[in-house]
Amino acid sequence: MRAFVYNALPTRVVFGPGSVTKLAEEIARLGAKRALLLTTPGRAAMVAAVSKNLPVAGVFDKVVMHTPLEAANRARELAAKLGADCCVAVGGGSTIGFGKAIALTSGLPVIAVPTTYSGSEMTTIWGLSEGGAKKTGRDPKVLPKAVIYDPELTLELPAAVSAASGMNAIAHCVEALYAHDGNPIVSLMAEEGIRALATALPSIIKNGRDIESRSDALYGAWLAGATISTTSVALHHKLCHVLGGLGLPHAETHAIVLPHAMRYNYDAAREAMRRIERALGVENACSGIYDLEKALGLPMRLADIGMNEADLECAARVAAEAPYPNPRKVEYAPVLELLRNAYQGRRPS
Ligand code: NAD
Repeated sequence: MRAFVYNALPTRVVFGPGSVTKLAEEIARLGAKRALLLTTPGRAAMVAAVSKNLPVAGVFDKVVMHTPLEAANRARELAAKLGADCCVAVGGGSTIGFGKAIALTSGLPVIAVPTTYSGSEMTTIWGLSEGGAKKTGRDPKVLPKAVIYDPELTLELPAAVSAASGMNAIAHCVEALYAHDGNPIVSLMAEEGIRALATALPSIIKNGRDIESRSDALYGAWLAGATISTTSVALHHKLCHVLGGLGLPHAETHAIVLPHAMRYNYDAAREAMRRIERALGVENACSGIYDLEKALGLPMRLADIGMNEADLECAARVAAEAPYPNPRKVEYAPVLELLRNAYQGRRPS
């Protein structure tokens, strides 16, 4: 075993069907009395239902994707105007992103109630977008103080969003397995996270109201978020970040790029790939992930989600420019080949 450093993050997790009823207790635990609830317009009814009996100071229901700075500032101003002493984010990675943006400048504690599989609730990573570019950073202030995982809140999550968001979580596990600062504990969580999600997602696509599979998928998402919270991401996440800047949807981009980024790193990360193969029960990790995505009905080509072929070279150049640790050296020509394969949706071998 090689030497390692593991720094666990101090998030409290409350897990189980119906656990959202513990929200009032969790707010009281923080000593908070004026919660600002955060949500997307689409989830407003769900938030109204779960907020009965809570000490609610107000609701910000204008969450949008990618945390645009201007919208985040409006949420921050509302929190200050209402004298909120905590934020409760009920929703996917976008909603949790708004909670983090408020915490970043105000230090307000966040309670996250995730309803997708993004894993953002477990990380210190924040993101803000301005003028078409997304800035990200890590700050312990933005880590939610408590996370309530209630699978009942995910029963209506559409199949397409479930599949894409679940693959985003699997991507966290994959990169944690070959992270330069990985360790045996993170690897255990990552392998188990892949196993839980890869088993649950096909059942969810067949029956979104299957509470067992919904529970297993949230469990996998928790593990996935926990893995990237303490490890560095590599080529796959960097590429998706660049493509996100071109306006491509976050989770779908992750799903499409993942098998190709894995193919890029395959020979340089044998132990990680062996673990992924074991978790999936397949002989080849890259084609195994590709086949899983196809079975989930996900879009398989960057061309299908709005990528412009003329932008492939620029994306490859940007991804290869800034040096960062990755199992295989990041170089322009093979990265461009990876992107071309993802653009065309070729099955990796
Ligand atoms: P999302 O939060 O944008 O949600 C996708 C859609 O699903 C939205 O329309 C939302 O209203 C809807 N939805 C959410 N929960 C639902 C439910 N239970 N039932 C029905 N509909 C529901 O998507 P996402 O993939 O969860 O998050 C993407 C964002 O999260 C990106 O901005 C990404 O950068 C960020 N993210 C951050 C981290 C991190 O560590 N900071 C990690 C992963 C993702």
